[in-house]
Amino acid sequence: ARPTAFKKPAASVEFRNVTKRYGAVTAVDSVSFTIPPGQLVTLLGPSGCGKTTTLRMIAGLEMASSGQILIGGRDVTNLSAADRDVSMVFQSYALFPHMSVLENVAYGPSVQGVPKKDAYGMAMEKLELIGLKGLEKRAPSELSGGQQQRVAVARALVLEPQVLLFDEPLSNLDAKLRRRVREDIRELQQSLNLTVAYVTHDQEEALAVSDHIIVMSNARIAQTGAPRELYEEPANLFVADFIGDANIISGELVSVAGPTAQVRIGNVSLQLPHRGASQGAVKLAVRPDAILLDEGTASTGALAGAVRKASYLGTQVEYDVESSIGDLFVVQFGRKEPVAPGTPVAISFVTNRGVAIIPDA
Ligand code: ATP
Repeated sequence: ARPTAFKKPAASVEFRNVTKRYGAVTAVDSVSFTIPPGQLVTLLGPSGCGKTTTLRMIAGLEMASSGQILIGGRDVTNLSAADRDVSMVFQSYALFPHMSVLENVAYGPSVQGVPKKDAYGMAMEKLELIGLKGLEKRAPSELSGGQQQRVAVARALVLEPQVLLFDEPLSNLDAKLRRRVREDIRELQQSLNLTVAYVTHDQEEALAVSDHIIVMSNARIAQTGAPRELYEEPANLFVADFIGDANIISGELVSVAGPTAQVRIGNVSLQLPHRGASQGAVKLAVRPDAILLDEGTASTGALAGAVRKASYLGTQVEYDVESSIGDLFVVQFGRKEPVAPGTPVAISFVTNRGVAIIPDA
């Protein structure tokens, strides 16, 4: 059955030129973004880029040094965590070990002065919603990692916050569970129409769960976009390299005709969507599956190369290929027999997807 939505509508989250300094360290540097109501937006980036600090500033667990934070259009910049109507699921779950599952989830309303019976009722409703009915009397130590995580989610949901925050929610789960839990989180978010900000350093996880991704690098936003947009149209080398695998190849933009650019890579000429690059030297981000290999010597329109290494991975074969323009990482799908190392290959490119001109910085 489809769970019932919250009584309050989901709220937007807006950052306007928000900066956070810790002494001499600028953890977040004049960052602006909007999370529309009912969307799951991921803050993605390498360790130290400022994503956790950003999340904690939404929660009110850190105060902005400057700038403005709005939730549902309300300026919350100077409000404490308790006054923001936001809940966070912590990486460690932060469950109280001496309390039962039910008491853990009822804790929030109890602290707010809701009578015990009602607080338990609210907690039961959320435990049921999240598929934990029957486990309410157990201690957290009597639950699996995945179940503990659900308790943490139920506890974050019990007051029906306008915004739900997740800080690396999968990091304490084994690889097999991760995929299921991330799907559960996405399903819950969509069925309840929740506004969610989600922190991860794992690009695959971000691509899988998000409506939009905010890629951060060095305290700033490197690019914001839908998963497919970031993968197909990276705005800079950082994003091209961080989201998925990319061969960064030097090319020459020869001419532009309307929306199409003619780009030369070695002796190969490609027609690509024109994106913000002036003529002359350009960088291209080429996805490993946008490179085609044909056994044999190259004729016009293909680069000459040779397979250096082939790894058979079942659904795909991964190749390291030597070529006249340098080494390339190539992935070929379909259960083909791998091409043996040393074999000469003709290298060509798929141009309708997977090859992007990186705009000038
Ligand atoms: P990680 O994935 O490792 O948690 P992150 O992207 O979440 O990294 P933040 O934790 O937001 O990064 O940290 C951003 C920068 O701010 C880092 O350089 C970090 O060392 C610094 N920083 C974070 N919290 C504090 C603090 N309380 N005091 C001083 N510096 C801090």
